[in-house]
Amino acid sequence: MKKQFAVIGLGRFGTSVCKELYKLGHEVLAIDHQEEKVNDITPYSTHSVIANGTDEKALQSLGIRNFDYVIVAIGDDIQSSILTTLLLKELGVKKVWVKAQNYYHQRVLEKIGADRIVHPEQDMGIRLAQHITSEKIIDY
Ligand code: ATP
Repeated sequence: MKKQFAVIGLGRFGTSVCKELYKLGHEVLAIDHQEEKVNDITPYSTHSVIANGTDEKALQSLGIRNFDYVIVAIGDDIQSSILTTLLLKELGVKKVWVKAQNYYHQRVLEKIGADRIVHPEQDMGIRLAQHITSEKIIDY
């Protein structure tokens, strides 16, 4: 079934999440505060807008609470990531998935109600190790 997603922060991680969801046939709203990032994602998203995730009014006017999932993929700016997550939960978004930079970032995100926290580099490292070892078993 087609779902509605919003991705805030279009770095490498946010961009790849956005493109894949769109490829899978879902509705995807792509958001970044940099115009260039927004322009680049336009062909790979349903809608793309320049907005700041920490701007409560902007989030409201985008009707963000109606999305099934919002993915916060803001990286280096931990303060913005936390504030964006807090606003999304306060605005009533049911599922907020957030990329964490480190363990302390994760702990704050847990406290403010992030529904799922991901560490892409660590998670991918674990998957790669598991994949290599399971391939080895099949090879022998
Ligand atoms: P990646 O590893 O996925 O490339 P990163 O961890 O290096 O990303 P950043 O490049 O710091 O993360 O941020 C990802 C994106 O989030 C950038 O495109 C940046 O413009 C955007 N971004 C940062 N702060 C905000 C904000 N407050 N509102 C909207 N977009 C933001």
